[in-house]
Amino acid sequence: MNIHEYQGKEILSKYGVRVQQGIVASTPDEAIAAYQQIAERTNSKFAVVKSQIHAGGRGKGKIVGTEQRGVQLAKSADDVKTIATNLLGNTLVTIQTGAEGKVVNKILIAEDVYYPGDSEPKELYVSILLDRGRACNVIMASTEGGMDIEEVAEHTPEKIIKEWIDPRVGLQGFQARKVAYKLGMTGNANKEMVAFLMSLYKAYEETDSAMFEINPVLKTSDDKILAVDAKVSLDDNALFRHKDLAALRDKAEEDPMEVEASESDLNYVKLDGNVGCMVNGAGLAMATMDIIKLKGGDPANFLDVGGGANAVTVEAGFRLILKDPNVKAIFVNIFGGIVRCDRVAAGIVEAYKSIGDIPVPIIVRLQGTNAEEGAKIINDSGLKVYSAVLLKDAADLITKVLA
Ligand code: GDP
Ligand code: MN
Repeated sequence: MNIHEYQGKEILSKYGVRVQQGIVASTPDEAIAAYQQIAERTNSKFAVVKSQIHAGGRGKGKIVGTEQRGVQLAKSADDVKTIATNLLGNTLVTIQTGAEGKVVNKILIAEDVYYPGDSEPKELYVSILLDRGRACNVIMASTEGGMDIEEVAEHTPEKIIKEWIDPRVGLQGFQARKVAYKLGMTGNANKEMVAFLMSLYKAYEETDSAMFEINPVLKTSDDKILAVDAKVSLDDNALFRHKDLAALRDKAEEDPMEVEASESDLNYVKLDGNVGCMVNGAGLAMATMDIIKLKGGDPANFLDVGGGANAVTVEAGFRLILKDPNVKAIFVNIFGGIVRCDRVAAGIVEAYKSIGDIPVPIIVRLQGTNAEEGAKIINDSGLKVYSAVLLKDAADLITKVLA
């Protein structure tokens, strides 16, 4: 689960990581009030207005149809009012949002940490994530922060510092010192960087995070190290033991269909094709999507209804798939292992009747325990449902109904 920059910074602060301070606002008036507080606190007229959306690249991104950037420096309350009005309620397109962009519902009014007269603020990059290959966390760092880190990784991979952490002992002081040294930090900046990395790692571990990406980490000319940005991604599977973090979820940032799916405990990912799929098990779902492609169709979604497919989950699945106007056919591919095919078939018939008229053809392939009985229930139902037992036959049916 992704959270906003301002929420990520709050978490980091709790763990003693120095961050660029700010106040979140949802209206221009709140933004002005926030600016006045920040200006008083910092004794400066400069502040940064930052769009809060679940995507990076905001600094270079623009509000649709305008020249307004997603992150902008302001130097007066009037500036803040103009920028806030330009941003709030409008759509920001960045390299990470795709062409459709994301609506800005909140902005962060942050202190300007690039002080005037600071001739050498240094933008660094630090992230922590899981290295699946090595089965441990890795800290990645670079002196080339602030800009596109993917570019750095591709063209100058030697500029990415990596330090792997043994899960049995956690991040050790010597490792943090090594990273700080490789980042070119000396004197007090080195000490600050070591403390920064140690508390950042503690925050990452204790929140069960999946990824932290701090870009830029700023080194000021007076040797302070602070997080200017914070991309924090929490591990969904650990949220049950972090109720406070689970509450940070912003459903407005997520695909509404995916939100609905997660409420029904369905694993759904929207795609662009025309064949809706309902499958039990992620592996079978992937294979099903391959078969659809092979037969000239295009999957409209990934949908894993889980091991215990029943009338309720099947109905929720149908309703979800049918919300997508691109869907021209639905392919149900269920393997009856723990769940019996005849029960799934009865569930499909029940769901079909409960939803009413389903306007697209449905192809049902049931294989495994009681597959024949399942097929019989489908065929005898009198509904516009085609049944197949072999995957190949089901795939041919897709070609036929799409033709
Ligand atoms: P992103 O573009 O979505 O990654 O958003 P960031 O939070 O990283 O901000 C984008 C850019 O805004 C940074 O790389 C900085 O160059 C600039 N920026 C952020 N905070 C400040 C600040 O306090 N002062 C100034 N002058 N620029 C800032
Ligand atoms: Mn950034």
